[in-house]
Amino acid sequence: MVAVPKALARMVSSTAGSLDSAAPQPEPTPITKDEESPFRAADLEYDLAPSEGHLNLEDLKFGTVFTDHMFTVEHVAGEGWSRPRIGPFQNIPVHPAAPVLHYGMCCFEGMKAYVDAAGRVRLFRPEMNMARLARSAARLELAPFDQGEMLACLKAFLRVDAAWVPRREGHSLYLRPFAFSTSHTLGVAKSTRTMLSVIASPVGPYFPSGLVPIPLFVDEVNRRAWPGGVGHAKVGANYAPTIAPQVAAAGRYGTPQVVYTFAAPDADPEDAVFEECGAMNVMFLLDDGAGGRELVTPPLKGTILPGVTRDSILTLTREAGEVRVAERDLSIRELREAAAAGRLIEAFGCGTACIVQPIASFVRANGDVMRTVGDGSFTNNIFKTLSDIQYGRVEHPWSEVV
Ligand SMILES: *Cc1c(COP(=O)(O)O)cnc(C)c1O
Repeated sequence: MVAVPKALARMVSSTAGSLDSAAPQPEPTPITKDEESPFRAADLEYDLAPSEGHLNLEDLKFGTVFTDHMFTVEHVAGEGWSRPRIGPFQNIPVHPAAPVLHYGMCCFEGMKAYVDAAGRVRLFRPEMNMARLARSAARLELAPFDQGEMLACLKAFLRVDAAWVPRREGHSLYLRPFAFSTSHTLGVAKSTRTMLSVIASPVGPYFPSGLVPIPLFVDEVNRRAWPGGVGHAKVGANYAPTIAPQVAAAGRYGTPQVVYTFAAPDADPEDAVFEECGAMNVMFLLDDGAGGRELVTPPLKGTILPGVTRDSILTLTREAGEVRVAERDLSIRELREAAAAGRLIEAFGCGTACIVQPIASFVRANGDVMRTVGDGSFTNNIFKTLSDIQYGRVEHPWSEVV
């Protein structure tokens, strides 16, 4: 029996008798007492459960179905990391005082695994998600980890539950790495216990019958992030507060999503700049009035989440060289004037879940509506190019076989 922290030990014993008790186990390495030593994928402990679920691809609602297993590893101050573990999917015991429950001391990632035509499982730029998770965790002073080892553990987990990656067009296995503080104290202080985990959920296509443009509410009151804040980090505290503005806008304007803006408190509201949606970056395709087109997206100035999809679209568009790429502020005034002149060609949100979400119009509380005038061909093309890479229909260094 490996010496693991109590919470994990309970998980181990509660699943005794499962498949792997018969399997040969590698010699357990003792838990390091060195705070600074990272956990290693080579030390992974497997406790595999017989499959309980089955994969029904019809009617898959996002994030409701989970695979058989999960990855966990826990850091305790003064002890270091436990052995990393792939065990049955189950509840995680947390102390009632755990800071994650009180102070939102948590962060997460969203990534996907895809199956290609040859049946191989692929990941898309996974090292970017590991780097972002490490940065988010660091912003919360959670225990640091080695990104390469974390990625190796994630891949090992993916191999265990590979049968859960849907083998169907547009489907994928959504992977949710996350980290949170499980300290046994109410003190608002540096975490003494960090849990790091990965769970996975099969998902269907975001757009079962083609891209559907939506109206977006331009929120000029609620701020998602602000200079000096944590908008650039995927920390839980950025998301809970976005639900109320979204529900309010849906009720009043029938808009399924909100785009946030930012302005200094005494600035002219027309000078407020676009930031991003609750969980998507936002991009605008403008006619520059001089025969050219410009793809505009807010710069990474600390209030914007550095999306992997955002970066990928900017890189591919720069490489194609047909459209100028500008990471710059875009004010409500500029968008209003562009739309009025028929120069707002297309707009879209972008993120791992949907790749791109076309935007038909921007709706303001004062009744202004700014409409896109294009046929959506740029957005469609981005969608196709990225999904071709992700599903391995074209070979590209961003897509790696696991
Ligand atoms: C996750 C997220 C995105 C999209 O990031 P991807 O890496 O492209 O999935 C954009 N904005 C916010 C606020 C997010 O949380």
